[in-house]
Amino acid sequence: MEKIAVYPGTFDPVTLGHLDIVERAIPIFDRVIIAVAMDTGGKPTLFSIEERVQMLKDVTKNYPKTEVYGFSGLLITYAQELNACTILRGLRAISDFEHEFQMASINKRLNPSVETLFMMTNESYFFLSSSSVKELAALGCNLKGFVPELIAKKLKERLL
Ligand code: ADP
Repeated sequence: MEKIAVYPGTFDPVTLGHLDIVERAIPIFDRVIIAVAMDTGGKPTLFSIEERVQMLKDVTKNYPKTEVYGFSGLLITYAQELNACTILRGLRAISDFEHEFQMASINKRLNPSVETLFMMTNESYFFLSSSSVKELAALGCNLKGFVPELIAKKLKERLL
């Protein structure tokens, strides 16, 4: 049986913190599927679903075993459709914990055969989030060390 992990998120936009999680998952799984959420609970996104998917495809094009798709609806249903055994999430500061704990518990209830696996954030990306990157970009900050160059360019085009 292939070991498939699904790594869900909004990825608005993808940061080096997200990519660090993907890189660390590659040796563990046969396939790592990055699932970009179309439904963001009414939260507006800076980039459209097509743009977010394309940016992820661009920055992971040299990664083995990695695929990128957009998805809508229930994550656990999508994981089931993909035959994924694992939902992968990155855990940053303590503030992520409560929300992640709740989601993992609900998903476990909905489908006990799919495990949620948390990876601790690499300490260099502990305080990095897509929203802070957008704020910095809007203020004209250099985004080196936060996002890949291509993403920094897209952020500048959109915000400056
Ligand atoms: P969501 O809106 O579902 O939280 P995000 O795109 O913000 O989507 O994040 C997707 C996943 O990546 C989440 O598990 C999140 O905790 C994780 N993540 C976000 N930023 C980082 C980071 N700097 N380092 C590691 N993981 C991160």
